[in-house]
Amino acid sequence: MPEGRDSKSNGATQEATKTVDVPAVVSLKDFAELIQVPAADIIRKLMSLGVLASLNQKLSPEVVTRLAKNFGFTANVIAAGTPAAVGAPAAAATAGVVKPVVPGKMRVKGAGGPVPRPPVVTIMGHVDHGKTTLLDAIRNAKVVDSEFGGITQHIGAYQVEVDDTAHDGIKRKVTFLDTPGHAAFTAMRARGAQVTDIAVIVVAADDGIMPQTVEAINHAKTAGVPIIIAVNKIDKEGANPERVLTQLTEHDVMPERYGGTVQTVEVSATQKLGLDDLLDTILLVADAEVEPKADPNAPATAVVVEAQLDKGRGTVATVLVEQGTLRAHDAIVVGEAHGRIRAMINDRGQQVDRATPSTPVEILGLSRVPNAGDRLEVVKNEKVARQRAESKASDVRDARLAANTRLTLEDIVKQYKEGAVKELHVILKGDVHGSVEAVQEALENINHPEVKCNFISTGVGTIGEADVEQAAATGSLIFGFNVRIDNAAAKAAVAAHVKVQEFNIIYNLIDAVKLSMAELLDPIYEEVPLGEAEVRMPFKLPGARGVVAGSYIKEGKVARGASVRVKRGKVLVHEGKIEQLRREKDDAREVAYGYECGILIPGYQPEVGDILSVYEIKKTLRTI
Ligand code: GDP
Repeated sequence: MPEGRDSKSNGATQEATKTVDVPAVVSLKDFAELIQVPAADIIRKLMSLGVLASLNQKLSPEVVTRLAKNFGFTANVIAAGTPAAVGAPAAAATAGVVKPVVPGKMRVKGAGGPVPRPPVVTIMGHVDHGKTTLLDAIRNAKVVDSEFGGITQHIGAYQVEVDDTAHDGIKRKVTFLDTPGHAAFTAMRARGAQVTDIAVIVVAADDGIMPQTVEAINHAKTAGVPIIIAVNKIDKEGANPERVLTQLTEHDVMPERYGGTVQTVEVSATQKLGLDDLLDTILLVADAEVEPKADPNAPATAVVVEAQLDKGRGTVATVLVEQGTLRAHDAIVVGEAHGRIRAMINDRGQQVDRATPSTPVEILGLSRVPNAGDRLEVVKNEKVARQRAESKASDVRDARLAANTRLTLEDIVKQYKEGAVKELHVILKGDVHGSVEAVQEALENINHPEVKCNFISTGVGTIGEADVEQAAATGSLIFGFNVRIDNAAAKAAVAAHVKVQEFNIIYNLIDAVKLSMAELLDPIYEEVPLGEAEVRMPFKLPGARGVVAGSYIKEGKVARGASVRVKRGKVLVHEGKIEQLRREKDDAREVAYGYECGILIPGYQPEVGDILSVYEIKKTLRTI
C-alpha cells in the first residue's frame, strides 16, 4: 500500500503549512489547478479512497479538505456567502460558475511547520455489530500509560499506544472517538468539522452487511475518509467472514484481498482477537493514505467532541486538539461560549497543562455548554473571548429571527381583532347513532387555536337532498360515515357545488376534515434570505427611475423582484423591491456571490457602504 503515497505531498511543501483558499463548490479540475497538482493524481487519490470522480465532478468541502491535506495543503474552504479572507477574488459558488482563486494567494503559516500527529479514528457500523465492545476492548487492552492500572474515564475520546511493528516497534498513539455510531460523525460534519482521519466500519461476521453498514460506508465516502473494515464476532458459530467480503464488493468496497484497496481485519471484540492487527492496519492506512500532520506551534484550535453541564464542575467539554498546543489557562472561545481554561484533564483523569494535536482533553471553565462539532479557538485574553462569543451569539439570534418570521405579533393581533377562530361548517351523516356520536366526538377533539369544526347538523341515514340544500345555504361540507348519497342528492350537490365525501374508516374521515380545516388557515409567509450586497458606487443610468446602487454581492445572491432591506450602519433606511438588476451592460435576473452589479430600488438613494439584505417571501400552506 505505501506506493499509494503521493510524492507531491511532501516534496513541494517545504515543511510549512500552505493554506489555500478554496471555494465551497469547486470542480476536481479547478481544484487541481488551485493546488497545482495533475488532475490525474487527484483522480487516483480519490480512487484509493473508493470514490470514482470525473474532471468536472464537484467536490464536497470535506473531500477538498482531505485532498488538500494529502497534497500538503491546509484548505480554507470559503463557505458560499462568505467573502474570501485574504481578498482573493471570491468565487461565484451559488451560481455554479466556479472561478478558481489565484494560487498566488496561498499563505504560509506557522513557524516550525507540521509534524506527524496521531490519526483520529471513528468506529461506525450497524447496531449490535459490536462497536461499543470493540471500543472498550481496545481501550482496556491498550490504554496509554499502564501505570494508572488502566483506569480510564469516558470523556468521549481516548488515546492508545501501539507498538509500530512496521517501524521497529516504536510507540505510536492512535486517538479513538469514543462515541460509536454515526450521529457524532454527522453532527461534526454538519458543523464543518472534520476530525476523523480513518473510519473503522464494524461488520458482524454472522450478520453481514446491514443497512447501517451501508450508511456508514456512504458517510465515510462522502467525507473522503479512508475505510477499514473490521469483521467482528469471528468467534461466533455461524460466523462467515468470507461472505462479508463478498457482500462488500456489492457495495463498491473492494477488499485488498480481492485486488482492491480497502483493508479488512478479522476481530473478535469479546475474545480480544485481532486487536493488534486492527491497530497495525490503522497505522498502515494512516501512513499510506492520510499522513496526519499538524503544527504544534500554530495558534491552537480544537473541536468539541462532547459537552455537558456537570453539577459539581460546571461546563465540561471534551475537545480534540487540531492544531497548535492547548494550554491550561488559555482564553478560549467556542461558538457562543467563552472562558478561560480552568482545568484540563486527559482520558485517564489526570490534570494536564498542555495538549498537542490529536489529543483529547476535558476542559473546564466555559461560560456555557457548546455543541459537538463546534470549533474552539485560543484568543489573546478573556475580554476578546467574550466579545467574540457575544458577536457570534448575536449572529445566531439574527439568523434565528430571520428563519422564524412565522407568526409575528402583528399577525396575532390581527387575528385577535378579526374574532380569530375560524370554523369549518360540517354536516355529518352516519349509519347508526353510536357511530355518528363517535365521529362527532373525534372531530370535536381536533384541537387547534385558529380553527374548529362547527356542526350544522348531524344525523342517521342516507345523505339526501335536504342535506345538500342545507349545506349550500350554510357553506358546509357533507361527510358521510358508512352511508351513501342518494342519486337526486348527488345531482343536486354537483349543481350547487357542495362537496360530499363518504368514508368507511373513521381515521380517513378525520384526516379529510383536518385537511379542509387546514385550508381555512392563512398560509405562512416566511422570509427566505437570499443574500447580501454592499453598495460600492451609486450612479445614474439614463432612463432609469432613480439612482442605481453599484454593488458587490457579499453573500448568496440577489434577484430581480426580490425584497430588500437597506441598512446604513445600524439604521434601517429603506425597504423595497429590486426593480432592475444589471450585470455589466446587461439586464440580469440574478447575480451571484462575488460579482458586482447595478441594483435599482425605486425610491432609494444609495450611499457607499449601505448594506442591502435581499430576501424572498415564501408561501407555505399549513397542515393540522
Ligand atoms: P453496538 O451496538 O455496535 O455498539 O454493539 P455492542 O458492542 O453493544 O455489541 C452487541 C452485542 O454483541 C453484545 O451483546 C456484545 O457482547 C456482542 N458482541 C460484540 N462483539 C462480539 C464478538 O466479537 N463476539 C461475540 N460472540 N459477541 C460479540
